[in-house]
Amino acid sequence: LKAHMVNKKIFEIATYQPGKPIEEVKRELGLQEVIKLASNENPLGPSPKAVSAIKRAAVKVNRYPEGSCFYLRERLSKHLKVKPQNLIFGNGSDEIIDIIIKTFSEADDEILSAEVTFLEYKIIAQQNGRRVKTVPLNNFKYDLARLQDAISQKTKVIFIANPNNPTGTYVDKREVDDFLRSLPKHIVVVFDEAYFEFVKENDFPVSIRYVTQGKSVIILRTFSKIYGLAGLRIGYALAQEKYIQYMERARQPFNVNVLAQEAALAALSDSTFVKKSKKIVAEGKEYLYQSLKKSGIEYIPSATNFILLNLRQDGVEVFKKLLKQGVIVRDMYQYNLKDFIRVTIGTEKENRKFVAAL
Ligand SMILES: *Cc1c(COP(=O)(O)O)cnc(C)c1O
Repeated sequence: LKAHMVNKKIFEIATYQPGKPIEEVKRELGLQEVIKLASNENPLGPSPKAVSAIKRAAVKVNRYPEGSCFYLRERLSKHLKVKPQNLIFGNGSDEIIDIIIKTFSEADDEILSAEVTFLEYKIIAQQNGRRVKTVPLNNFKYDLARLQDAISQKTKVIFIANPNNPTGTYVDKREVDDFLRSLPKHIVVVFDEAYFEFVKENDFPVSIRYVTQGKSVIILRTFSKIYGLAGLRIGYALAQEKYIQYMERARQPFNVNVLAQEAALAALSDSTFVKKSKKIVAEGKEYLYQSLKKSGIEYIPSATNFILLNLRQDGVEVFKKLLKQGVIVRDMYQYNLKDFIRVTIGTEKENRKFVAAL
């Protein structure tokens, strides 16, 4: 294979480095007990109702899935009090990011986002040959005024992770209202709300209202975090019907598999599991805040199920030392936050192990 046979744009893409899997760390370091606090997954596992649904559905996997996710669509539309036509499902919200970029921008158009945010916006934009423009955060928060200033005629889609990953910060209702009011008409704004269910703050925007008010807004949510289904890959977007209709054209026909559809349907109905997940995160966050304060370690207050720590020393080194003690966190090298690590809030036992190791 000669390099000239490869699409030139491919050379620009830095491949995504996910959190290290537990089994890999056990194998490589010869450890028996390893905990993973690296990918903001649900530490309680999947909902037991989802597990039963997967078992029941297993005998149906000889058939193609329903491309429309019919039953899940009906159930979720009731849950969110929107029309079924306001929803589209994806193989993780990652796939919907790809669908959005394909639907609302062309080859040389610009995708706009923040410098320190979810890495997939940039990677997927580059995979599609789009240009990416980013603006710095302000005090670890999305700077909407700066985003506004960076808009050009070429800007087609703006990605705002709210709350943001990896910082855990959020932009509030007033900030978002102002931002949307003065937005040029040719732009689609995506609010990626992967951590929505963990947010307790009262001034967090009720983004579904922007859609019902007819604004050019798409909301992204996922079953990977609070619903505990990261391994099955299923997420969704909510937008005005005409936006969804165009996005449907860029979707693969069987993108969401049979097991994911059934599991999501069951997880959505398991309010006990969701409540329990929220509680363990709220309590774990309080415990970690107190422990970090005692140790004099700086952190960014978080609206999510993870915390960004400022260690004031090389984060990759600390990450490696934690690994040797069987604790997987995320170093922030890819995000250019060299002195930081990000830790997902785990079970009480996992949090204690992390604090002791740190
Ligand atoms: C975890 C996460 C997602 C979820 O991606 P899936 O493909 O649905 O697993 C999306 N956006 C952000 C900001 C995330 O942190």
